[in-house]
Amino acid sequence: LESIIASPEVVHYICKRFGIHMSKKLGQNFLISRHVVDDIVKAAQLIPGEPVLEIGPGIGTLTQGLAQSKADVTAVELDRRLLEVLDTTLAGYENVRIIHGDILKVNIPELMNNQPFKVVANLPYYITTPIIMSLLEMKLPIERLVVMVQKEVAERMVAKPGSKAYGALSVAVQYYTEPDIVFEVSPKSFLPPPEVTSAVIRCRLRKEPPVQVTDEKLLFRVIKAAFAQRRKTFSNTMKTTGLTKEQIGAILDKAQIDGNLRGETFTLEDFARLANAWHALYG
Ligand code: SAM
Repeated sequence: LESIIASPEVVHYICKRFGIHMSKKLGQNFLISRHVVDDIVKAAQLIPGEPVLEIGPGIGTLTQGLAQSKADVTAVELDRRLLEVLDTTLAGYENVRIIHGDILKVNIPELMNNQPFKVVANLPYYITTPIIMSLLEMKLPIERLVVMVQKEVAERMVAKPGSKAYGALSVAVQYYTEPDIVFEVSPKSFLPPPEVTSAVIRCRLRKEPPVQVTDEKLLFRVIKAAFAQRRKTFSNTMKTTGLTKEQIGAILDKAQIDGNLRGETFTLEDFARLANAWHALYG
């Protein structure tokens, strides 16, 4: 019988035996609930042999659930001290490969043999947004991302125009994916408990972007500008791009957008129209 790592007793025991003190700096909050592990694995809908990338396996709580689903697991862990722990806790699983490295620096396409894969992780919260954004911007052949994040970040990822949580992260995530919050997770499911409630978010990557843009870089410059100064009107905050007042006026005219509105009310279609007008006039 395989013993389950994700329980308070086993996590305590492993940390004690290996003398592991969880590092706050590295966002180490280990799952101690097998239910949560099972529900994350379920949301990933893994099929046997399918490549899956795990970010930050820790002591192997979630990795074990992924391994038991018979997926082909590659897990990247930054903390060197955890490597010998993982060697022990995951010794029985031949379908798991642990890589020592920083997820923001490793060559992911090479690691995943340039094959399509899924990403499943209980993310280190201090770098949630950089990890998600870099995975999306690299345009890797990811099919689905199932990740634990702070609830507040999950809400930003799914937020709709006009709501308080709507921002650059919402627009970017919704440009690349169709996100939905699968469930919330109480701090009690972790050791040590984080200060915030968490949520598991599932992002299904789109095959085609939902809007047509001639220059994606301009799209992201418009989005960034729109949310740079939240209390200003869109035409004012657009000045952060270096365009002149006249140029901004011409772009707004061409895109048929009212510059007196605030950027946070704009839909992805609005941003696309603005980027296309910018490209057509000054690109
Ligand atoms: N997967 C384990 C679990 O659910 O119990 C641990 C999750 S813990 C929230 C985040 C993990 O990410 C830690 O093990 C931490 O050492 C690791 N980590 C932090 N920064 C990292 C980075 N840049 N690259 C890879 N792993 C990182």
